[in-house]
Amino acid sequence: MSEFDLIRRHFTRPTPSAVLGVGDDAALFQVSEGNVLAVSSDMLVSGTHFFPDADPYWLGHKTLAVNLSDMAAMGANPRWATLAIALPSVDEAWLSAFSAGFFALAKAHHVELIGGDTTRGALNLCVTILGEVPQHQALRRAGAQVGDEIWVSGCLGDAALALAHLQQRIELTEVKFAAVAPALHQPQPRVALGLALRGIANSALDISDGLLGDLAHILDASQVGATVELASIPVSETLRGLALIPCPSPAEEGSHAALLQQFVLSGGDDYELCFTAPVHHHADVVHRARKVGVPVTRIGHIVAGQGCVVRDAAGKIIKGASNGYDHFR
Ligand code: ADP
Ligand code: MG
Repeated sequence: MSEFDLIRRHFTRPTPSAVLGVGDDAALFQVSEGNVLAVSSDMLVSGTHFFPDADPYWLGHKTLAVNLSDMAAMGANPRWATLAIALPSVDEAWLSAFSAGFFALAKAHHVELIGGDTTRGALNLCVTILGEVPQHQALRRAGAQVGDEIWVSGCLGDAALALAHLQQRIELTEVKFAAVAPALHQPQPRVALGLALRGIANSALDISDGLLGDLAHILDASQVGATVELASIPVSETLRGLALIPCPSPAEEGSHAALLQQFVLSGGDDYELCFTAPVHHHADVVHRARKVGVPVTRIGHIVAGQGCVVRDAAGKIIKGASNGYDHFR
């Protein structure tokens, strides 16, 4: 099969919202009046971001999901995407499943694939997503104010727990693994929540490299500090059952409890939103999140100064709460 047959068969779908979709040297689209374009790219590399034998359907889903998550974090409405893909060989079954997973999520979010690039090489998947956000309404990292409450959506740590099981760093029963595996393989981008937070959140980002590492980006950009209460961080039944978080603190280094605490504070791949909002918007945050069906939890607040302090249930500072994932460290 030629490169062009492959593109036609697997990556060409109708694009009614674009002026011109796949097939020319560039795609064309019109940004709605009063909006600015939000653009972001996220690349998934085989062996770094996923196992080479990952299920292709869910890999297609995740390739787009991590990009939609960036739109969610900006309060942007995702509209179009391009897909640059390097493939070691043409595997029809793999491509069919991959594109089915990709387009299922694209359809759910009304996103159209308008172009990309296809080449031979080690498996590598890169989406550029294009979204719209009304001028001056994007949720940025730099807006956190002293006194803001810090919130997160969903539960944290399940994706890291599932990954640790696959890497045999921890052993889960089949039932428990089945409960946390979707967090790793099938992340649900919080696009509706991001849109709902326009106008009330002062800052936001998505958690892709662990809560503390990502929250630090908000703190740096906003030149503020934070206090986070470990016991208030939402965790799944499965993780709570294993860890009994809040665990005896400080968790002994190298212990089971410390490992689980690390998943919650520094585990990657959660793709939940972390955002800050003024206290007087508390009820509105709860109301809007409920309306879009996404659980949100207040986990701390913004303080003057810099850095993040994590406290246990007794108010004691947890030392050495480590930072997020960094590819080059
Ligand atoms: P060019 O050589 O001019 O860069 P290509 O031959 O790479 O164009 O691509 C032909 C068309 O197919 C272009 O419109 C491009 O955007 C689209 N395309 C290529 N690869 C993909 C892909 N993986 N998914 C979606 N569209 C793609
Ligand atoms: Mg090309």
